[in-house]
Amino acid sequence: MNEAVIALCKCGESHKAYGVRFERIDSNTWQYTWAFPINEKAAKREGYDSTKINGNILPSEDYPGCPYCGSKYFMVCSCGKLNCNIVSPDETATCNWCGSTGYVSNYEGDGFTAGGDF
Ligand SMILES: [Zn+2]
Ligand SMILES: [Zn+2]
Repeated sequence: MNEAVIALCKCGESHKAYGVRFERIDSNTWQYTWAFPINEKAAKREGYDSTKINGNILPSEDYPGCPYCGSKYFMVCSCGKLNCNIVSPDETATCNWCGSTGYVSNYEGDGFTAGGDF
């Protein structure tokens, strides 16, 4: 059985949190398969807020997307947290968790490498 973790993501559109299920498919790649709304208190209680993903991330074919905005892609902040839908038209992005702002130079809508800077 594949190693699986739940990580927390915050939606840039709704500013609400949701859980995302990741499965490790090889030593450096995680596939995300499911997303579900969750309140932050419950997530903290489950320890989901301390999950950090390192490596490449990619959606599974049937990944349903963010429960609020439908985005299938994440930005992973240097704080290790996931965000969706935070890229503004001038290509800056502000993390919903730590508030740091970065400039996105390579946004192609196809996901980001986890564990790095914006
Ligand atoms: Zn969203
Ligand atoms: Zn952050």
